[in-house]
Amino acid sequence: MDIFRDISSLKKRLYQAKLEGKSIGLVPTMGALHLGHATLIKAAIEENEVSVCSIFVNPTQFNNSNDLSVYPRTLENDTKLLETLGCDILFCPEVEEIYKEKAVLNFDFGHLENVMEGAFRPKHFNGVALIVSKLFHIVDPERAYFGQKDLQQFKVVSQLVQDLSFNIELKCIPIVREDDGLAMSSRNVRLSKEGRIKAASINKMLVKGESLLKQGKLFSDIKDSLLDDLHSQGMEVEYCELVETNALNKINAISRHQLSAICVAVVVEGVRLIDNRIF
Ligand code: AMP
Repeated sequence: MDIFRDISSLKKRLYQAKLEGKSIGLVPTMGALHLGHATLIKAAIEENEVSVCSIFVNPTQFNNSNDLSVYPRTLENDTKLLETLGCDILFCPEVEEIYKEKAVLNFDFGHLENVMEGAFRPKHFNGVALIVSKLFHIVDPERAYFGQKDLQQFKVVSQLVQDLSFNIELKCIPIVREDDGLAMSSRNVRLSKEGRIKAASINKMLVKGESLLKQGKLFSDIKDSLLDDLHSQGMEVEYCELVETNALNKINAISRHQLSAICVAVVVEGVRLIDNRIF
């Protein structure tokens, strides 16, 4: 695997691949890689002649400086995992390489950035759109891989690709879970043993929610009781919404004509976890 820390050598390597007519698949990550990331990387390897994984803990998407400073950084292990998977290129720049000057550009994704994650993490999607745009320009991939785990992020990136005419096919990869159903996340390592067990209730709540909604229940009638179990274990629920998956508008019942998702953000032992279930 070739490892690049600077943009110009990465571009030189990719220019060569492009001259040879090779397709490029990009997987943007913040590292502390787990099997969820590995699924995206495997897809990029299978579907492209050159696979690129970026590892960059992007400061502009963190609205909480403590969250940024405690974000796990495990570059050595990540490199080993990428080697084992057969990834061709790792791009792991320093912050100064990406933000030579402070970025001032402001995106406005309207409703998409004001609900759920956007409401609780002001400017988060602005930072996401900035880094994703930069990576798209630097790597210029045919395909880019994102996880359904960050459903709202996928919607924002889809809007970005559409509005800025990026010629990139976006792939949304289903959520990879631990055996007990907890969505894999780089943040899970910050949980204690007890916190880790508690966190498995998040997925149980989503599964129960789907089942009740499929029985014809209204979300407003079941929401409180769905969240009882999380609250009783001392978890703080930032939001829990039923939305349609197109524009992420809130709905109160599921319909046969469109996909719906329950999206949730929960704080367990000071660790913020998000999850969702589409049906
Ligand atoms: P992150 O490093 O957390 O920014 O995640 C990088 C990419 O991996 C994002 O597109 C995430 O949605 C995706 N991802 C994170 N966790 C999972 C998971 N458990 N299953 C599938 N994809 C995931």
